[in-house]
Amino acid sequence: MEQVAWVRVFSHGNAMLASHVRNVLAAAGMPCELRNMTLGGATGELPPLECEPQVWVAAHNQQRAEALIQSALDPAQGVPDWVCAGCGEHLDGAFDTCWNCARPRPAGALGDCGPGAAS
Ligand SMILES: [Zn+2]
Repeated sequence: MEQVAWVRVFSHGNAMLASHVRNVLAAAGMPCELRNMTLGGATGELPPLECEPQVWVAAHNQQRAEALIQSALDPAQGVPDWVCAGCGEHLDGAFDTCWNCARPRPAGALGDCGPGAAS
């Protein structure tokens, strides 16, 4: 039996955002766990921090997880918010895909010609 200590690397009142972070870690092959996802239901009242959806990883993955989360959510990219063409969700510019329906951000939303632009 292996005793693995888990640590919280992310928490946010938006369950979809926490879920997105979990997906980022899972996509990187990192075992991770969502907690506090079932405590919703309080309308018009923000839950205390301890009740927010949280993402946990094994302690030895903490640094890598935090780096992944930071790059996934990096606000320093200066990318403007965008609206998903698939479901209309308003998304922070830090996201490349819609956390609601996983649709990728349209290239035009960046407002510039990236390295992938053909011409
Ligand atoms: Zn969407």
